[in-house]
Amino acid sequence: MTKSRVTLPAGMLFLVAATMMVALANSKTQSKQEKRPFGKTQDGQPADLYILTNNEGFEVAITNYGGTMVSLKTPDRNGKMADVILGYDSVSGYENGKAYFGGTIGRYGNRIAHGKFILNGATYTLAKNDGENHLHGGLIGFNKRVWNAKDVSSSAGQALELSYMSKDGEEGYPGNLSAKVIFTVLADSNALKIEYSATTDKETVVNLTNHAYFNLAGQGNGNILGHQLTLHAGKFTPVDATLIPTGEVRSVRNTPLDFLKPAAIGARIAQDNEQLTFGKGYDHNWVLDRTSAEALSVAAEAYDPQSGRVLNVSTTEPGIQFYSGNFLDGTIQGKDGKDYPHRSAFCLETQHFPDSPNHPNFPSTVLKPGQHFRSTTVYKFSTR
Ligand code: BGC
Repeated sequence: MTKSRVTLPAGMLFLVAATMMVALANSKTQSKQEKRPFGKTQDGQPADLYILTNNEGFEVAITNYGGTMVSLKTPDRNGKMADVILGYDSVSGYENGKAYFGGTIGRYGNRIAHGKFILNGATYTLAKNDGENHLHGGLIGFNKRVWNAKDVSSSAGQALELSYMSKDGEEGYPGNLSAKVIFTVLADSNALKIEYSATTDKETVVNLTNHAYFNLAGQGNGNILGHQLTLHAGKFTPVDATLIPTGEVRSVRNTPLDFLKPAAIGARIAQDNEQLTFGKGYDHNWVLDRTSAEALSVAAEAYDPQSGRVLNVSTTEPGIQFYSGNFLDGTIQGKDGKDYPHRSAFCLETQHFPDSPNHPNFPSTVLKPGQHFRSTTVYKFSTR
């Protein structure tokens, strides 16, 4: 008896094998992300924690309360994992907290002078929640709202889409703003991509960012003064004593704000410099040396010589707020009972410039009906 046998040409066999491998890889990355209860808000709304991972064990946990990054675990140079962002163990910490740990900041990230701006001849008045100024979207900013969540994982990686409808007049801003943030843990590298988008039905201003506080040695593990920072920015926007930009765009040359070459965060932080006095350390907007107006370009790199962890930030935004955790004063107790002393973390908030609605010479933050606001930032981790 002769057995019939189909023989495939070598090229076709390779194709079949390759297709099977891709399908296998996809089935891994498309595995449903883990979801756990994260507590209830004071008014009884449940919040969840979504755990996004890749096959390397890189892991980011995000809650739909405030679109908040709760933890981010990445290896050191010996492969040892640590959680490198500050935060709280449950939703109540974020509800009561004032530090904006890991939150999605909106409708307008950073400051607006005297909580006022004019758009189309109308004056809009916002809460003054930072002395005389408006900060990070007001009394109940996007970081204190419960967002809708949807698993949008694909072959690119595990992904969570959060959406929030900010009503016309909410916190004083005009227009119903439909905001969306997609967090993706990339399947092929230890990186978190954040894609922001928004539309409005009335002319408004928008500036969205994430307020993660990083300590590459691990959260609650000393200060970040020994971390080396590079900022790809030859200019910054100097501020007055209330941290509102004066409108000037100034060179960083011969100032302690020059991070064009890597420098330890603590090396010049105590220098006698008016800008550092105003900021109580670093708390300024750097103007990024962009290579293209739209594409992602490298904005910053932070390196912790102790653990070997490196964070690379790239963004489509024109600016970045480097904040050296000056207001952390040791009174906050965070995740796993860890204390957060002075300057025990830094923030790299990709953004449009602070107070842009009052500075026509800054890139515009106006969003009109029919326009689609889009912004992308990638936080990528490696070791050296
Ligand atoms: C601001 C700081 C502020 C901090 C809030 C930063 O974005 O620039 O001045 O204290 O957010 O935690």
